[in-house]
Amino acid sequence: MALPVAEWQGRTARLWAALQPALRERLAAASLQDAVRLGCDVLRSEEEAALVQLCHWAPTDKKPEAASWYREQGNREFKRGRYQAALRLYSKVCLEDIARAESHGYPDRLLPKVLLRKAECLLCLGRLQDAQDILRGLESKIALDGVMTTHLARLQKLSQLKVKLGEKERCPEPAQGEHGGTQGEPEIWEENNRISGASSSLSLSFDAERGRHLVASQDIVAGQSLVKEEAFVSVLCPGESLPLQDGDTAWDTRATNADLYCHRCLRQLLASVPCQGCSYAKYCSQDCADRAWQQYHRAECSLGALLLTLGVFCHVALRTVLLAGFAEVSRLVEGSHHGDKNFQNPEGSCKPLSEAADAGAGSRGVPGCDSSGRYRSSYQALFHLLPHTEQHSPEHKFLCTLSVVALCKQLQAAGLEAAVLSQESPQQWSKPKTCEKTSDELSPELKTVAEAMLRHVLQLQCNAQAITVMQELGPGDGAVVDKKPVRLATAFFPVLSLLNHSCCPNTSVSFSGTAATVRAAQPLSSGQEVLHCYGPHWCRMRVAERQQLLSQYFFKCHCPACLQELEPGVKSVVSIRNSFCCPKCQAQMQGEEDTLCCSNEACATSASRDHLSGRLQDLQQQIKKALDLLRVGKADQAIKMLLKCQMDAGTFLSPEHLLMGEMEDHLAQVYATLGKWQAAARHLKKSIEIVEMHHGPSSVETGHELFKLAQILFNGFAVSEALSTIQRAEGILSVHFGPQSAQIQELQEMKACLSELPRNILQRT
Ligand SMILES: [Zn+2]
Ligand SMILES: [Zn+2]
Ligand SMILES: [Zn+2]
Ligand SMILES: [Zn+2]
Repeated sequence: MALPVAEWQGRTARLWAALQPALRERLAAASLQDAVRLGCDVLRSEEEAALVQLCHWAPTDKKPEAASWYREQGNREFKRGRYQAALRLYSKVCLEDIARAESHGYPDRLLPKVLLRKAECLLCLGRLQDAQDILRGLESKIALDGVMTTHLARLQKLSQLKVKLGEKERCPEPAQGEHGGTQGEPEIWEENNRISGASSSLSLSFDAERGRHLVASQDIVAGQSLVKEEAFVSVLCPGESLPLQDGDTAWDTRATNADLYCHRCLRQLLASVPCQGCSYAKYCSQDCADRAWQQYHRAECSLGALLLTLGVFCHVALRTVLLAGFAEVSRLVEGSHHGDKNFQNPEGSCKPLSEAADAGAGSRGVPGCDSSGRYRSSYQALFHLLPHTEQHSPEHKFLCTLSVVALCKQLQAAGLEAAVLSQESPQQWSKPKTCEKTSDELSPELKTVAEAMLRHVLQLQCNAQAITVMQELGPGDGAVVDKKPVRLATAFFPVLSLLNHSCCPNTSVSFSGTAATVRAAQPLSSGQEVLHCYGPHWCRMRVAERQQLLSQYFFKCHCPACLQELEPGVKSVVSIRNSFCCPKCQAQMQGEEDTLCCSNEACATSASRDHLSGRLQDLQQQIKKALDLLRVGKADQAIKMLLKCQMDAGTFLSPEHLLMGEMEDHLAQVYATLGKWQAAARHLKKSIEIVEMHHGPSSVETGHELFKLAQILFNGFAVSEALSTIQRAEGILSVHFGPQSAQIQELQEMKACLSELPRNILQRT
């Protein structure tokens, strides 16, 4: 998804193989500038035509009939009580799609109905604020239209919903001042005067081994915010969704990220404002739609399908240059041609960042800083992230080059060159200045743009930051909400990119919209490097897999976890805990070969690895089936099946195996849907034990499990236990997400509600 679709990759690979060896060598050794020049010569019109053909897989033009189909599917899910699914489908029915489809016979009067249903879904899901927003909008719309008889039933429904909303809101009154400690208090935040978006308790250092990196300049407590940065650029990832089958009405009912989040600010969509020109871009508000149009979408709109085909990295690269503006792009690209070490800095040499930095680093300055020696979250800083031009494989560079050149040619062909080049003056881009040009060769300006884009695509391999959100899983009946982090967008964060990787990081990153916050996950002492995990964490992956994954960033990790696990005879924690056990005596099975042996010498049972792996796969299949049963409402059968899976797993998996924990978690979920809170809590506690063992007692993972346990205990009126669980969850989650986060607020609402409980119960009886 980050890279172009497989067909285009295959095509460029064949083209590469067919090139003359001398040309291949020149391309392999080419600078970015030469690569673009050569790429323009190599890209033939038949390749361009093939690319256009591939774009038909990603239709982004408007299809009015889809809206009514989504609405019907939404109604169906709603009647089954699956509010989360219904909500997603209603989100696909865009406000304006309905209005614009009037000419196709789609009646506007259905719109309030869809919105009412949507509000009802939100109410059932406990998202009161969102429900209220919709009801308010609807009220004003009805008032505007005047009361017609057709609206009377709806008005009645509206007032019913408002009463329900009022009831729900009365319960969890935010109890201010009741809880001690730091919760809810604004954080102490002092910005660094040398690095924008960084805390004043950090400093920027530079050395040959670690490159640019951030170091604690004083002692730091766990949970303290270290970096707060707005993405320089972000592009929503389309998410998993198969291409629509052509011809029939097989619309994709699985809403993707593109349907659920604003394409500019990444806020969750309630009533979306779609782009006038394409069916792909959707926004949370007219303001976001207008700004996106002004800043970049006017150049992207007609190329939606091409951008989906070429992948998110190309899209981020294009949006980066659009946001930076051509003047800045060409200044930095020109500068890079002069080979001057300080080209980033036309006004003179970079001042040393920190007096305390070691001699060599201090005097040379740090790349990417502005003339005052300040590192900002700017295009200049972004431009100086390492593209690792020499380390990418020549084939990969070729693919990126052709993709970028093809994109620029399309921009030119579509008359969008002016929109790309003169971002600031909308009057100018209405009259294309390239009209007299007859050849289809790229203009010099677009070659500069292509060169910058190629740099950004290559940089992204090491510097792309995923923006993730906690997304609700499962049927979402509202009682117990299971959330999982989901990749939402790909972004450049120039300051966040200063952090080096460790498989055992000392920070935690969370996102709100397009803003990232890095917090200390543990106390840091002055002088300690601030480290962030790029993905492979020592609790989740064996060292060999981690090193393999990290090779794409062109470095070998030397973090303490890697050094220790690379010692001869040392096994990864992951493989010890997730091992097979002896079917006879339950001791751990050992061996690196095809045959595993029981570690208990007296037992000496052996078994084939393939056989055990096969059993593991079967088990995973069975668990999936059980979850399918739960999804269609057959909870009792799901329980039976999961219990059988547990029995089976006990005979060949280590009791600490992560899958053992997952089964407990699933059982808890099923019991929760049945309202059997005690049983649910019992299973969840076992799951928590295993999660703690794997990820540590203060990990995000443990925090999320405790959050679920708090919900279950809350629902089961286990007041004192619920309160102590809430407290533990709060302690952990506020370190990772901060005291203002949605999770913490939900926990505090639960706490407030529990303190009101005796009165509520009295009222009930
Ligand atoms: Zn928005
Ligand atoms: Zn558009
Ligand atoms: Zn490591
Ligand atoms: Zn044994």
